[in-house]
Amino acid sequence: MKKKDYIKRAKKISKPFRVDGGKGFKLKHFDPDDTLNLKSEDKPKAKEALQDGIELLAELQDMLYAQDRWSVLLIFQAMDAAGKDGAIKHVMSGINPQGCQVFSFKAPSREELDHDFLWRCMKSLPERGRIGIFNRSYYEDTLVVRVHREILVNKRLPKELITKKIWDERFQDIRNFEKYLNRNGTIVRKFFLYVSKDEQKKRFLERIDNPEKNWKFSSADAKERGHWDEYMNAYEEMIRNTATKDSPWYVVPADNKWFTRLVVAAAVIDALASLNLEYPEVGEDKLKELSEAKKLLQ
Ligand code: AMP
Ligand code: MG
Repeated sequence: MKKKDYIKRAKKISKPFRVDGGKGFKLKHFDPDDTLNLKSEDKPKAKEALQDGIELLAELQDMLYAQDRWSVLLIFQAMDAAGKDGAIKHVMSGINPQGCQVFSFKAPSREELDHDFLWRCMKSLPERGRIGIFNRSYYEDTLVVRVHREILVNKRLPKELITKKIWDERFQDIRNFEKYLNRNGTIVRKFFLYVSKDEQKKRFLERIDNPEKNWKFSSADAKERGHWDEYMNAYEEMIRNTATKDSPWYVVPADNKWFTRLVVAAAVIDALASLNLEYPEVGEDKLKELSEAKKLLQ
């Protein structure tokens, strides 16, 4: 298949999950178990397609790096055990590590709490020519912090600023921030890996039963399940308020890991392809320099 056709296919696979205008957005319009009619017999083929996609991604990323103008920010958000780490690992596996920067955001440190909520993420934005990956992000400040309001109070924000409007204000700040990034040459793609409550339970049980997976399990994660509906509301509100044409969300079905990875890879290919990347053009001076260097070597 030609590169152009791959790129077309990537658009086709990722488009059903793209949300680029939040108005009327409802999570119930999406199904965590969706595989676009691909059946489990199609799994080997899907894996092959993913492998091809990863190769194409590596090629696009090489051009991004050579051109050194744009940068790409990929944000991953999800409930525990939805497969963020695995998706990041697989999709980025073919990419030159020098062109890629991954940051995980955990509960904020003392130093981080001493600043506004965007600060720690701003410090970790990708350089030009790079792909930056946020494993969790400033969106946690509209998710876990919303579900557990006590965190907000402990965050040392002046209490006059903690009003009913705070979530709308944060959404507005995030929209403006992402617009600012877009205007400075950073394109933003956001992924919500949408796992079902049942599938999460299955994966937690696996983590308990399989000694090699024990390390991944924390009883705090299991406790968070008790807030499932509140989280789903927070995710819905977040996507509704921050999905824009330039910085879309992808609601990626996450009950089948092979399909999750396929959709994420496709969306990243689509994002890179939208930049019309090319290797930098070599000017007269550079050509002369190259030919002189060749003579010298010979
Ligand atoms: P994990 O990624 O599973 O290691 O977990 C990281 C934990 O950090 C999760 O429980 C998040 O909810 C939490 N976390 C990330 N960002 C924030 C934040 N801004 N405020 C509070 N907790 C956070
Ligand atoms: Mg965890």
